[in-house]
Amino acid sequence: MSDTIFTKIINREIPADIIYEDDSALAFNDISPQAPTHFLVIPKKPIATINDIQPEDKELVGHLYWVAAQIAEKQGFAEQGFRTVMNCNEYGGQTVYHIHLHVLAGKPLGWPPYQEKLKV
Ligand code: 5GP
Repeated sequence: MSDTIFTKIINREIPADIIYEDDSALAFNDISPQAPTHFLVIPKKPIATINDIQPEDKELVGHLYWVAAQIAEKQGFAEQGFRTVMNCNEYGGQTVYHIHLHVLAGKPLGWPPYQEKLKV
């Protein structure tokens, strides 16, 4: 898998507003926020899409949610609530092929997240 922009952020080759780091994960504010709070939690291991998650990655992927909850608690929006999203491939709206958990908070978020009416 070729390097994505997120590998460059992990390696400090390009700047990012990093808010959390441990041995296996990194979190940083999204460059184009879609809510008052919008950050990404990523594994340091480059996994391209949800479809590429291997059995040995299951704990790591769970860890991303744990990190999200820790930051939510620390930033004070855990009780009010927030949304996590992980997009997959073209129809899911994925643009960076290194899995990442979007964490959005700070205002009531609409549901469903798309505008079109479902055609049945
Ligand atoms: P996706 O569309 O793959 O689900 O989400 C990719 C996210 O990465 C987008 O929300 C986009 O704004 C964010 N992003 C893309 N490039 C950069 C960057 O260089 N720095 C930061 N902080 N976020 C980025």
